[in-house]
Amino acid sequence: MAIERLCPNCGEPNDDSRSICKNCSVPLNVYGGQVGQEEQFDRKLAVQVQSLDVRPPAVWAAVVLMLLFVLLVPVSIGFNSIHNWQSTANNPNYMAHAVSVIVPIFTLAITVPVDVVVCILAWAVFSQKTAAWKPGIFALLVTVPAIWMSHGAVIAIIWSIVTITVTVMFSLRNVKAWYGF
Ligand SMILES: [Zn+2]
Repeated sequence: MAIERLCPNCGEPNDDSRSICKNCSVPLNVYGGQVGQEEQFDRKLAVQVQSLDVRPPAVWAAVVLMLLFVLLVPVSIGFNSIHNWQSTANNPNYMAHAVSVIVPIFTLAITVPVDVVVCILAWAVFSQKTAAWKPGIFALLVTVPAIWMSHGAVIAIIWSIVTITVTVMFSLRNVKAWYGF
């Protein structure tokens, strides 16, 4: 019968040939100390590698904000232009009526390319492109003044709080590590 030794840590009887406790992994001899350290290092490394596979919540939040922004600006321009167009529809001032049609078309002509760029950036941010991290932060921060210009104060304040919180989360070390920094 094999000689058993009690673990100094948890009291589990271990076969004398074992270097680390089968129950709590505490080293039972000098060699076990080395194995334990290596095992601990391997486990740490495994946790780190695993964390790189899981998309951080801040990345999800940043992508959702970008897509929401892409929708918000054209929608608000649409609402405003319908409102302006209605109020000028029976207006004898033809200039005012013309402006109410031309201004939203002109604004959309600028907004659509911006939205396309933001969509491409959102895709790059989502799919872990290292180069997308900095422009991602820049895009998030730029949406704040854009929402202030195109929306009422209530929406703008809510948007600012949420966006700045997400931007801070997005700048944290775990997100940078996920992007390979
Ligand atoms: Zn033990």
